[in-house]
Amino acid sequence: MLRSALLAAARSGAVRGLVERTPLTRPVVRRFISGDDVDAAVATTGELLADGRYVTLDHLGEDTRDAAQATATVEAYLDLLRRLELAGHTGRAEVSVKLSAVGQFLPVDGEKTALENARRICAAAGAVGTTVTLDMEDHTTTDSTLGILRELRVDFPWVGAVLQAYLKRTEQDCRDLAHAGSRVRLCKGAYREPAAVAFQDKAEVDLSYVRCLRVLMEGSGYPMVASHDPRLVAIAGELASRRPKSSYEFQMLYGIRPEEQRRLAAEGHRVRVYVPYGDEWYGYFMRRLAERPANVGFFLRSLITT
Ligand code: FAD
Repeated sequence: MLRSALLAAARSGAVRGLVERTPLTRPVVRRFISGDDVDAAVATTGELLADGRYVTLDHLGEDTRDAAQATATVEAYLDLLRRLELAGHTGRAEVSVKLSAVGQFLPVDGEKTALENARRICAAAGAVGTTVTLDMEDHTTTDSTLGILRELRVDFPWVGAVLQAYLKRTEQDCRDLAHAGSRVRLCKGAYREPAAVAFQDKAEVDLSYVRCLRVLMEGSGYPMVASHDPRLVAIAGELASRRPKSSYEFQMLYGIRPEEQRRLAAEGHRVRVYVPYGDEWYGYFMRRLAERPANVGFFLRSLITT
């Protein structure tokens, strides 16, 4: 119930205004978001890399209906990539891109614009020696995003995909993408989805995650295990035990289970932290609250006591 309400609020303009206007929200937001600008993002990246972790950076923003905004997002990624190169970070830091932030939902030529914009980001990433992963959004975008992924991979074969275990289609998508050179981030899925397309029961989502993980680990691609769930992390470790440690990685979100991130890195696993930055934090923040009721308590307590 609470998860559903928070995910509905994540797409509500009225609630957004309310949450954003509350100055006391900021300290809580800071737990999950590195900062408002590229300086903060590069500084956080430096700290994580120095600590032995890898990074993927997300310039926050999504669902744009405005072509100028989509272009501004592309420029922000190009600036970020330049700054990462200048700082010498591109060996272990890449970027994550939401296609809805670069034009996928534009009323005219949305997919075409998103493809062209993503192409510009991929060209810039390739030029500085790093990679791009396409985030996955709600199920209405899955076919479009996988289609754009296929197009991008013709020129940039290293572009990564995200698949969501809560979708019933995902086991088959994993089979399709478990080939050599294919980078696939497997997550549970963060959106509110109907029962016709997605498992609703947490146990069913977890079982689906394990089936998908098995397909990816038995394939010849590069699985990226994106979960904070201790059971799934342990199962992934078991399934990966016969693989070289350089042939897969764990991924977790900035601010979530940092001790576990360090523990896995100390055991010699590759651990990549997803670092969001920018002032468009609302949708991302609400999805994090929806994932864990304890975070809502933390948020409400901070409103009362700050
Ligand atoms: P859960 O069952 O949610 O949590 C398991 C345990 O992890 C909890 O018991 C708790 O101990 C800890 N935990 C989980 N969440 C939190 C939290 N918010 N705060 C504190 N502790 C927590 N989703 C998409 O739909 N598309 C994407 O492109 C996408 N990219 C992602 C990239 C990365 C690197 C990661 C890690 C996640 C991504 N997600 C994405 C989000 C994902 O789908 C899940 O919503 C999110 O990871 C929570 O699921 P979980 O596997 O961690 O398990």
